[in-house]
Amino acid sequence: MDSVTSQIRERAKALLSEGKVDVVIGFTEGTIPFTARPVAVAHPEEVECLVWNRFCRLNLASYLRQFKDKKIGIIAKGCDTRSIAILCTEQQVNRDNIYIIGIPCEGMLSRKTLRERFGDTPEKVEIKDDIIEVTTSGKKESVPISNFLDTACRFCIHPNPVVYDEMIDDEVPIRVSQEEHYSLLREFEKKSPDERWKYFREEFSKCIRCYACREACPTCYCEECFVDSLNPKWIDKGFSESDLSIWHLTRLYHQAGRCVECGNCSAVCPVGIDFNVMTQKLSLDALQMFQYEAGMSIDEKPLLQTFKQDDYNDFVM
Ligand code: SF4
Ligand code: SF4
Ligand code: SF4
Repeated sequence: MDSVTSQIRERAKALLSEGKVDVVIGFTEGTIPFTARPVAVAHPEEVECLVWNRFCRLNLASYLRQFKDKKIGIIAKGCDTRSIAILCTEQQVNRDNIYIIGIPCEGMLSRKTLRERFGDTPEKVEIKDDIIEVTTSGKKESVPISNFLDTACRFCIHPNPVVYDEMIDDEVPIRVSQEEHYSLLREFEKKSPDERWKYFREEFSKCIRCYACREACPTCYCEECFVDSLNPKWIDKGFSESDLSIWHLTRLYHQAGRCVECGNCSAVCPVGIDFNVMTQKLSLDALQMFQYEAGMSIDEKPLLQTFKQDDYNDFVM
């Protein structure tokens, strides 16, 4: 067994046995290939189901609000800890009730890219250091893991937990520079306004309005989302270009200064809409205009709930 997995099990068992937490949110083996599944463990004897591997893709902070009245232990990568910090500053969860077991993250693998390469029914999948070995129809292929990194992870600059109570394993090196971090966006910005709009129209037109992106986002938690509201009714339920554009652009605006670029929304989209360029834009604007990075501290007020005299004001008439 991998040493991080055994340490996670050991710590989860101790925290539950000592009554320090009521539940530990982590990952267990997935039921479909190339995935690990979020799980909440409430008894010390259940911790053997916890695992840690390169498929622990989802941001577990999304599940915290479901256990609001409990003391919660949570396994958290860099992006998870930033979302936890935001949920704390927005008073959605109480930091005193959360025990964060931080795990430095080497980058998670994209199920979509793996499925495209190996199909949906591999017989065996094994990861050995930086190589993934996949056996399909009796034939084993060994390929570098780096070919299958999730897009958000390829450009991640905060793989190490930023807020935690204890850390398992040593910090990992940061794989990209601040400038490389925004490379997708920089390429996109070279397009003309017409080309950019075409890209948005084509991406948004695929949407089936299942709202998985909203459900998977740790910081999309309104009791009633604007798309579901009937009074007032902000948009229709259809698939017109106007409805789809309003849905996506409003969701993204609601993440300004809050999105941690975890890539959850892109990872769960059943039709493969890729939000990474858009979330990089949210992040870069917050950084350039307000020198702010979402979720880097639980002591800092949320970006859009405060102001400084010298804030960027050029947009004010
Ligand atoms: S975005 Fe960063 S911290 Fe989050 S899973 Fe990817 S590499 Fe890990
Ligand atoms: S998950 Fe994809 S298809 Fe579903 S609402 Fe979001 S963008 Fe649309
Ligand atoms: S908008 Fe997408 S990338 Fe940003 S925090 Fe939400 S799920 Fe993560």
